Amino acid sequence: MKIIMLGAPGAGKGTQAKQIAQAYDIPHISTGDIFRANIKEGTELGKKAQEYMDKGLLVPDELVCDLVVDRIHKDDCEKGYILDGFPRTIPQANALDEALAKDGEKIEFAIDIEVPDENIINRMSGRRSCKDCGAIFHVQYNPPKKENCCDVCGGELILRDDDKAETVKKRLDVYHEQTAPLIAHYKEAGSLHEIDGTQDIKVVFEEIKSILG
Ligand code: ADP
Ligand code: AMP
Repeated sequence: MKIIMLGAPGAGKGTQAKQIAQAYDIPHISTGDIFRANIKEGTELGKKAQEYMDKGLLVPDELVCDLVVDRIHKDDCEKGYILDGFPRTIPQANALDEALAKDGEKIEFAIDIEVPDENIINRMSGRRSCKDCGAIFHVQYNPPKKENCCDVCGGELILRDDDKAETVKKRLDVYHEQTAPLIAHYKEAGSLHEIDGTQDIKVVFEEIKSILG
């Protein structure tokens, strides 16, 4: 089962991808998580990626594509995977399509979670992420049991640097310009499924499960 998640920043891709990965026993591959791990470890890739992430810009395609193509060829991806945050540009989608076509494969499900821009700022300013395990919460819509403490591992919950209002606005512009065209790309490929992401987290998950079967 090869799945990609589409949608604006804050639409709920990570929240749903984590649950899908668990329910279908496939790896959750988030390029944003990979970059944040590299930033934390101080790697060269992390240093380069941070320059772009801090400004709300996309990391250049050449730093992302090979990394993802290598990752999906690992043994744990044999049964499938869920890509969250990749592809984000048409060249990334083409690179993915080409890598899969070499093995006679393709993306089977492109799940687009639709949330209007006016809801996004609220989603992002209330998002809290565990600094240790990356679990995602929201102060209002999905609060942790104990304030600022991760339900999964007990780690501290933080507001991501790029979730500050001024960076979010830039990220939304970048989404509309560079990522939204992927909706037409996957529609044409016949794998697009659109979901109303303003519904409750559990309802969105049920709809995704009914699509994946
Ligand atoms: P993305 O991965 O698309 O950037 P996230 O999954 O991190 O988005 O979700 C962004 C924020 O919105 C998080 O704080 C999350 O808890 C919250 N959220 C996710 N889905 C919903 C939903 N259906 N309704 C309300 N809040 C949601
Ligand atoms: P995310 O965790 O998906 O919200 O991603 C956080 C940031 O990481 C984005 O705003 C980009 O700067 C960068 N990023 C993540 N995935 C990609 C990608 N596929 N292409 C380019 N930049 C990316």
